[in-house]
This record gives sequence, structure tokens and C-alpha cells, in this order.
Amino acid sequence: MSPLQRRHGLAVLTRVRSHVDAGDLPGAQELLSEILAEIPADPRKARPAEAEAVVLQTGVLLSLGEPHAARGWAAYGHTCLRRLYGDRDRRTLHSLGLLAAVLTRVGAHSRAVQRYQELIELFSELDGPQSERALAAQADLATVEHARGQCQAGRARLSMVIQQHQQVFGTRHPVGIRMIARLAAMWRDCGEVDHAQALLTQARAFATGLPPEIHDLLSAVETAPPAEAHVCSGQPLPEVPLPPAVLKVPGPIDEDTLLMPVAESPFGRPFSTLSYLPAHPELVAWEPSPRTDDDAPEPSWRLSPATMALVAAIIGIVAITVLFLLLVSAAKTS
Ligand SMILES: [Zn+2]
Repeated sequence: MSPLQRRHGLAVLTRVRSHVDAGDLPGAQELLSEILAEIPADPRKARPAEAEAVVLQTGVLLSLGEPHAARGWAAYGHTCLRRLYGDRDRRTLHSLGLLAAVLTRVGAHSRAVQRYQELIELFSELDGPQSERALAAQADLATVEHARGQCQAGRARLSMVIQQHQQVFGTRHPVGIRMIARLAAMWRDCGEVDHAQALLTQARAFATGLPPEIHDLLSAVETAPPAEAHVCSGQPLPEVPLPPAVLKVPGPIDEDTLLMPVAESPFGRPFSTLSYLPAHPELVAWEPSPRTDDDAPEPSWRLSPATMALVAAIIGIVAITVLFLLLVSAAKTS
């Protein structure tokens, strides 16, 4: 790729981000097709800008409700970023979260579980097990467990996450309230409408004074019918053992003791899982830097070439005058 082509690619990416920020996903997709048409087939050969384009494409497709189309891009993008930046870079972690969300959306639950476990491990290591990102990944993992019929394990995990989130961030945090909405949706899908309702009542109390979007979310969960596709397998534990903290949660959850709960809307961004979509907020590494010190205006104390010439001329005239006076003085003396 020539420097000119590269600059053009960067300019297009900037425009793509603007479209995404403005909510114009089809517009973003159209621009991305221009870049994506030329990326190498081998993700190990992709350049940073191409990797970012792929990640943006994944997020856009997911947001447009096209997870099957996003799957290949998600895997490609994650492979690129791991190679470019390593496993712990924020861009790589972001792409891993996208990949997990895509796998969940297409029903590849076993693979999604693996990806979420990787995310939880990395976020716990980097930020601590009760960090926002680690808890969000746990909440997403709980959603996958529930979706694959491990209802009790999924609800127990999410209940634990909500309690930890409340301990760290308080009960009025929007993310914690969204988690409660998600837990309510789980109970609803499992046919336990009363439990769902109790959680939503609790969530509404916590949400007093918060923006209308939160209340819209709670209303949507309240009025949505149970998911027909959901099947409770009755399988009590997940394939991978839960951490001790989760096992302390009573088996058949006693809903009355739940501090909160719940979940996320099945609407606009159903699986935007708390933190991973839209795709780009952190991917700004290739944004043209606005202005560097090198091209900042010259400090006022610096002289322009014209001023320098004038000063040199004055110094020259003074020097000649002094020389002339010395010569005259010397002549008189002699
Ligand atoms: Zn169920």
C-alpha cells in the first residue's frame, strides 16, 4: 500500500467513525466496503488500519442484526489485533469481546463461553475481578449459560455479578440496573414471571431519577413475552466449575433475597453487552493527530527571516560606523 493509499484509508476510517457516532450504520458500512475490498486474505498480513476497519465492520454488522455476516470478520479482526498488539492490549480485548458477542448471537455457545472465560481471566488479571470490565464479561457469560439452557447456573452467576457490582458501584448505577433487567428477562424466559416482576420493581426503585432510557428498557423487559426459543435444560451446573463465590449462591435462587438484578434489552442492541458495542470507542490509534508541537505556530519570541535580515543590517551599519569613527579617531591622533 502506497503512502497515498494509506492516507486515503485513514481518512475513510475517520469518516466511518463519524458515521458510527452519528448512528448512520449503513453509511459506515458503505465506506468500509471500500477498504475491506483490498485487505489481504491472510489476517497475519493485515496492517493496523485494515485491522481497525475489520473491527468496525464487525461492530456495525452486529449492531445491524447481522451476526452471521459478522462472524468471519470478528475472527479475522481478533487474529490481526493479537498479532499486532498482543493479548492484553485494549484493542485486542475489545475484538475478543466482539468475537464472543458474535459467537453468542449465532448460537455458537460453547465457543462463546470459551471466549468470555478468556476475557474474564484477562480483565481480572489486568483490572481486578471486581472491575467493571471483568464483571461485564461475567454478566455476558451468564447470559450465554442461560441461553444454552444452563438456567440455574446462569442466573446464579448473574445474581453474584449484580451483588458485586452494587458493592463496588452502588445500586443506582445504570449498568447494574441493566444487569437486573437482564436477570429479570432470564426469569421471564424460564417461565417465572413473578420473579421477573419482583426484580423489575426493585430495578425501578433503583432507577429513580435516572435518564428515561433506563426506564424504557425496564418497560420493554416488562412487556416482552417469554422467548419461545428458550429451553430450560434443568442442567444445574455449567461445564466449567463456577468460582467459589458463585457456589455460595443458594441453589434454587431465593428470589426474595436477591439484591437486584438484571439484564439487558432485547432491542436496539440486544447483546451490546454492557461494554463492547459499538465497535470503536477505543480504537482511535490511527486517527490523525490534530496537531503536534512540530507544526504549532512559532513562538512569538522567534524572529522571522525578514526581521533577522533587518537586525543584521542594523548591526552591520553600526559596526561600519564604529569602524569609521575608530579610523577617524586614529587619523586625528596620528
Ligand atoms: Zn430457563
